[in-house]
Amino acid sequence: MKRKFLALTLIMLITLSLACSLGNLINDGEDSGSTGESAPQGEGRCGNGICGGPENPQNCPEDCPSEAQSGSPSTDDESASGDGVPSTPSSNNTPPLYIGVSVHLEAWKLGNEKLGYEQQVYERYVQNILAYSDLANSYDMPFTWETSNLIDPSAALEPNVLLELYQRGDGIGVHADLGEQTPYPGGEAQFTKDLRILRHRMEDLGIPVTHASGVCSTSDWVTAALDAGFEAVTGTVDYCLKSLPLDQQSAEIQECKGPALCHDPYPGQIPEMLHPWRAADGSSWTTPAEEGLLVFSTAGALPCSAGSGSQPQCDLQIIEEALAARQPGEFHSFFFVWSYGSPLEEELLRNFYEGLQPYIESGDVVWKTMPELIEAYQAFEGSAP
Ligand SMILES: [Zn+2]
Repeated sequence: MKRKFLALTLIMLITLSLACSLGNLINDGEDSGSTGESAPQGEGRCGNGICGGPENPQNCPEDCPSEAQSGSPSTDDESASGDGVPSTPSSNNTPPLYIGVSVHLEAWKLGNEKLGYEQQVYERYVQNILAYSDLANSYDMPFTWETSNLIDPSAALEPNVLLELYQRGDGIGVHADLGEQTPYPGGEAQFTKDLRILRHRMEDLGIPVTHASGVCSTSDWVTAALDAGFEAVTGTVDYCLKSLPLDQQSAEIQECKGPALCHDPYPGQIPEMLHPWRAADGSSWTTPAEEGLLVFSTAGALPCSAGSGSQPQCDLQIIEEALAARQPGEFHSFFFVWSYGSPLEEELLRNFYEGLQPYIESGDVVWKTMPELIEAYQAFEGSAP
């Protein structure tokens, strides 16, 4: 019976090196307008599905349904239109918890342009990725995929999997995995340049990217990411504290020699981890600033495991805790990470998605890709007094 699951995932077991099994992904950026490269798209446009900026129920009822008369503002309204049963607004004025999953696509040996690509490995990888994506989309809960080593093979081989994922509405970002070299060869300037190259390579595929993960380093990774054109990072872990002044680092952080060695999510506790913020630079990034790089921490690995028998289990207690910590007028997000890397049993993903359904139906949880989450955060900022 186990064999069925293995069919999907067998091959990956060969190659798993857990470069970053948990948190060091930085996802997602937003158009803060800091570079002037592109106009912000999220706010201010009536009809974009987001109630933000100057919009309100009077001047844009499309995006801002009045709370008194409509059930769930942004999710689909099947129940409202049909049989006269009023849909229940979730929890009066408690804002939703935005949830999503970032997948770090890494650690598969796909080859490169010089030495040649591993066509067969690529095909298996792609087949599995698309199968996971199909499953997620069958629940209307798409993943956010982040990678660097898949960019070139995706461009060179068929199918162009990253473009395919992007076109079906999945989230895409860069997983840089660059910060572990200290000092960075070539220094801060080279670090910035290498980050920018990753972003451009992705954009050469026709995929706009605004967020990255895996960029933390001892140098000023916040400025480097901003200068490289990213608007947001995601998946901050303890290693990211290495860019703070030495006297602000705990002994443990001072001694930490690499991202894999101090890899716990930062800030790591509820409620702090629920709130994104902006960081001015690497020496002060733990203190929220008016402007700067948007920082999303990670909720850690999916709260699911293979369980004792063959039946996978998901412990959604942490989601209950996050929901209970919500405050009116605040923004709450919770992004899980999975490194692929190692396969997940399809059953486990299904259990996770099934377990979330009641919260989604009540409106307490709203599913997001990271690009969507960034846009939601921008709208939230735009609407703040
Ligand atoms: Zn990684």
